[in-house]
Amino acid sequence: MYQISRSIYRELEADILEDRQWGDGPTNRERVLRACEAAVHRLTTDRHYFAHPSRTLFKDIRGFFPMSAQLHVHRVVDRYMTFAAEYLATRPTAVMELTGQKLECRATTRKGSPCQRMPLPRNGYCPSHQHLAETEEVTLAAA
Ligand SMILES: [Zn+2]
Repeated sequence: MYQISRSIYRELEADILEDRQWGDGPTNRERVLRACEAAVHRLTTDRHYFAHPSRTLFKDIRGFFPMSAQLHVHRVVDRYMTFAAEYLATRPTAVMELTGQKLECRATTRKGSPCQRMPLPRNGYCPSHQHLAETEEVTLAAA
């Protein structure tokens, strides 16, 4: 999974703007790589609350590229982030392996403790809490 951030970086590397001579701290290249890693990490660990992964990452890094490269950057980011999201959505065990976190339903039980049943990869809720995912979609659509 973390190879994805490397792949995004490799495809974009050549277009990254040169650093200013007086620049201190991380270089543009380091910033781009870190932003890619952060986005992929967030997608892996916080997928259900990360609404627009492609848009977010593009916004984070676009400033490090010239105008002429913006379209290319957007395409690369969108292609890989879409791939990563689909990969995670169809492989529930992959998330567990990547993060070391046990997969648990996102719902809270009536007693107020987290529901610990195995969630469906599609939306992160267990079979008995599927109705919550529907409510969520309605809320998102109305927003
Ligand atoms: Zn549940």
